[in-house]
Order: sequence, then C-alpha cells, then structure tokens
Amino acid sequence: MLKINVLDKKFKVSITSEDIQDSIRKIALQMNEDLKGKDPLFIVILNGAFIFASDLIKQVNVDCRISFLKMASYHGTASTGKIRDLIGIDEDLKGKNLVIVEDIVDTGFTLEHIIDILEKHSPAEIKIATLLFKPNAYKKKIKLDYVGIEIPNDFIVGYGLDYNGYARNTKDIYVLDK
Ligand code: 5GP
Ligand code: MG
Repeated sequence: MLKINVLDKKFKVSITSEDIQDSIRKIALQMNEDLKGKDPLFIVILNGAFIFASDLIKQVNVDCRISFLKMASYHGTASTGKIRDLIGIDEDLKGKNLVIVEDIVDTGFTLEHIIDILEKHSPAEIKIATLLFKPNAYKKKIKLDYVGIEIPNDFIVGYGLDYNGYARNTKDIYVLDK
C-alpha cells in the first residue's frame, strides 16, 4: 500500500520492504565478520526494534545470545525527552561483548541513556546497531557501528515503529504525508 491512515494522520511509503531487507543483509554481513568468536549478547530495545531484530538475527551466523530492554520516550510524534526503562536485563553483562539493537536513532538521548545503564555492568564492549538514523537530529558524539539507512528529520512509522502504538505491523516504512 502506498498510503495508509493511522489514527488521525495520513502516511505515505518512504522506504520499501526491499530496501529495508537490503540494508539488513549488509549489516548482517558486517556483523558476521566483526563478531566471529566474540560470543556477543544482542540487546534489543523494545518495542520498536523487535521486527528489525528478528529479521537481522536470522542472518547472523555467529554464536550469540539475545536479550531485551524496554524503553519508552515518545508520546505522539515528538520526543518528550523523558525516558523510562521498564524492563531490565537479567544476564551477567560483565566482560561481555554487547550489541545494542535499535530501530531508530534520532537525537541520541535514548541511546545515551541505554549506554549509561549498560556501562554500570562493566561489559567489555558495547557496539550499536540501528536500522534508521536521523543525522540532522543527532545531538550526541556516540559512534554508531552499524547503520542501515540514513533518513531526513521526518516522523516515520511501520516495520516496528509506531504512532501512538499503531502501525508497527507493516513491511514498508511510511512518512507523515503533510
Ligand atoms: P532519541 O532519543 O534518539 O531522540 O529517540 C529515539 C527513540 O524515539 C527511538 O527508539 C524511537 O522509539 C523514537 N523515534 C525517534 N524518531 C522516530 C520516528 O520518526 N518515528 C517513530 N515512530 N519513533 C521515533
Ligand atoms: Mg526505539
């Protein structure tokens, strides 16, 4: 579908499923090189990253584990700056090679907060993978190790990303149709 309605807003296709899957294949190839023998623990940031993580992890062929961290920062279509971590990690992270899996990095505040939480557990290394990145909104200096697709500063939904809880269940990614 080229256009969808979500609650009170209209959205149009921005990134097709084919382009999403191409970018995921590239990330997985790079991970399979980098993470060989490192026994990585993937930390998937819920809710948004669940679909990306699921497609990505099936193409990662190194021995690895997967855990989940639940954050919340968006209400409506603008970042509130308030971030809450709702579910913690129960694995021992000390000395582990962690890979954060995010749907999107916007200002970078959420990512910084996640890294602060994880660093308290003294991991050996923290790598960052994000399907989407808004370079023009980014306010942090944290290096992103794996970036799928760079996008402009627009509000998007689909493929895990929501508008007030809806539209996570699409294969393509949609942008607000102004
Ligand atoms: P940041 O803290 O980097 O500003 O925002 C990160 C979080 O905000 C993401 O993990 C995601 O949940 C949400 N977010 C940022 N940009 C968008 C967007 O365009 N659409 C949606 N649905 N969520 C976004
Ligand atoms: Mg997220």
